[in-house]
Amino acid sequence: MSSHSPIPWFDDFLGLAYRFYDLRMNVVPLFSEKKQANDLWRATVNWWLDHSIKIRFVESSDSYWFIMGADSEHPQSNISFFKKLNKSKNYERFKKGHDGEAYLRLGSYSDQYLKDVKKSAPCDCGHAAEDHDKNDNDACLYEICSCKKFESFQVNLLKKKKTVTNIVYLDEKNIKDDPLAWNCLNVNQYSKLK
Ligand SMILES: [Zn+2]
Ligand SMILES: [Zn+2]
Repeated sequence: MSSHSPIPWFDDFLGLAYRFYDLRMNVVPLFSEKKQANDLWRATVNWWLDHSIKIRFVESSDSYWFIMGADSEHPQSNISFFKKLNKSKNYERFKKGHDGEAYLRLGSYSDQYLKDVKKSAPCDCGHAAEDHDKNDNDACLYEICSCKKFESFQVNLLKKKKTVTNIVYLDEKNIKDDPLAWNCLNVNQYSKLK
């Protein structure tokens, strides 16, 4: 296959997690099954050349496009990632703190319910699992709290990682000089609006 054939765009993942307590901050595309993450790593990311990995964050008011691609030792199975996501506190924290480098890992995401967790596990409402009432549909016991059901989630990261040193933030208005970002939005947004 010619090395000039276009690399397919892939957005069949749930979103991103960011992790901050590591030598470098982590960017983590998330999948619902660990097996999916493992398979994709083996088929694609494993063959990426670290120095060629590019991450672009294209900002568009309250949302952003995550765009990621690289040169591969196995170009025939290469793909590029993209996903349009809402800006979040973690997004802003990564933007301020990454310092030009990050670890790329893949992970799996699962919802957790009251019956699955330890007493001390925190709910999205900020209160612990033991402060929720399993006799009242897992509602939070704090009267000031509007939480009607314990909800939490667990993220598991694969151990393997790649180091990314080419991370750029762009505004949607000026992506024309960035081939990866321009190609992504052209294929996945502009051509669909016509
Ligand atoms: Zn609560
Ligand atoms: Zn709660």
